[in-house]
Amino acid sequence: MKPYLKRAWAEISLGALEENIKKINSLLYENTEIMAVIKADAYGHGEGDILKKLCQCGVRYFAVSNLDEAVSIRKHCPDGEILILGYTPPEYAHELEGNNIIQGVLSLEYAETLNASAVNKIRCHIKIDTGMGRIGLKYSDPERCAKEAEKIIRLDKISAEGLYTHFAVADSPDDDESVEYTKNQADYIIEVYDLLCKKGIELPHLHFLNSAGICYHNNKRSTLARAGIIMYGLYPNYPVALPVKFKPVMSLKAVVSLVKQMRTGESISYGRTYKAPDNNVVAATVTVGYADGYSRLLSGKAEVIVRGKRCPVIGRICMDQLILDVTGVPEVKEGDIVTLIGRDGDEEITADELASLYGTIGYEVVCGISKRVPRIYVD
Ligand SMILES: *Cc1c(COP(=O)(O)O)cnc(C)c1O
Repeated sequence: MKPYLKRAWAEISLGALEENIKKINSLLYENTEIMAVIKADAYGHGEGDILKKLCQCGVRYFAVSNLDEAVSIRKHCPDGEILILGYTPPEYAHELEGNNIIQGVLSLEYAETLNASAVNKIRCHIKIDTGMGRIGLKYSDPERCAKEAEKIIRLDKISAEGLYTHFAVADSPDDDESVEYTKNQADYIIEVYDLLCKKGIELPHLHFLNSAGICYHNNKRSTLARAGIIMYGLYPNYPVALPVKFKPVMSLKAVVSLVKQMRTGESISYGRTYKAPDNNVVAATVTVGYADGYSRLLSGKAEVIVRGKRCPVIGRICMDQLILDVTGVPEVKEGDIVTLIGRDGDEEITADELASLYGTIGYEVVCGISKRVPRIYVD
């Protein structure tokens, strides 16, 4: 039986991923290489198959959020460069060394603790906080920042190979203040890098581009571009226009389990929030719910696609099921495929569109598709 057990599944288009990689490469300067951000199980797409495809596309640099993710990626990928963007408890220094993983260094104190725990050398990129206010060396002037970075670089068991920072508002190209803020962030880290060069320290990498940076603030000084959301075909800041059109990689599908004719006043689901206005309403029950990551906050708001037509979700979304008004689709029957995210015929619903309905971002929608939803890889 295909598609998957006739319940709920996510289709992951590796062809779309490949196209997106090509498009990102076409935006980048020649000296900038993609560092694919595959944290959180490749934004919910499934890291194993995504990684394999990325390697086939020639991607050599990967970024993750933590040690577990890094070790798991290392198992699939013996040769790739893997950077942990966030904190790793220094007790795990030997795991970093043993798996040849590059650690983001968040402060001088952190570097010193890592240095003390290392056996041989720990590879690292030094994180500079230029305005995100999250992690990294924080100084108001580049001179002092470079001095502190130098102290880290001089530690005997730390092998510093790069300097990086993260943009806070690169996704708002239409707002002058945000554009200037981003420019200042880039200028700051470039200055720190250049000051280190003047001291004779030339690190192989300097990187500050995220997806929004690539799209709106491209800069040839960034040797790596940490591409995340655009690789998966979504917007950094939907619906702010992008320089090229990326293709969404994930679709979410389920099936119709039951079709029924409603009578005036009959209600649907918990709380009876929906009541049929007349005798014409046809309702269809669908095999997906909030436990699959299709948020309950979408109750009464979302639409899905059945047989190429949009149908509204009616009543409250349940844990494992939801109900549609399919009055506009007379041919609907049990077993029909329902597209919750993705394209069917001329209609398309993106994770970004869904996110905007309940006050979140496409990132959270795809990351939130739960573990019980099998990922099916297609071309
Ligand atoms: C998640 C993350 C990225 C990727 O961000 P996108 O907006 O998805 O491109 C890049 N850099 C850092 C430090 C991150 O945490």
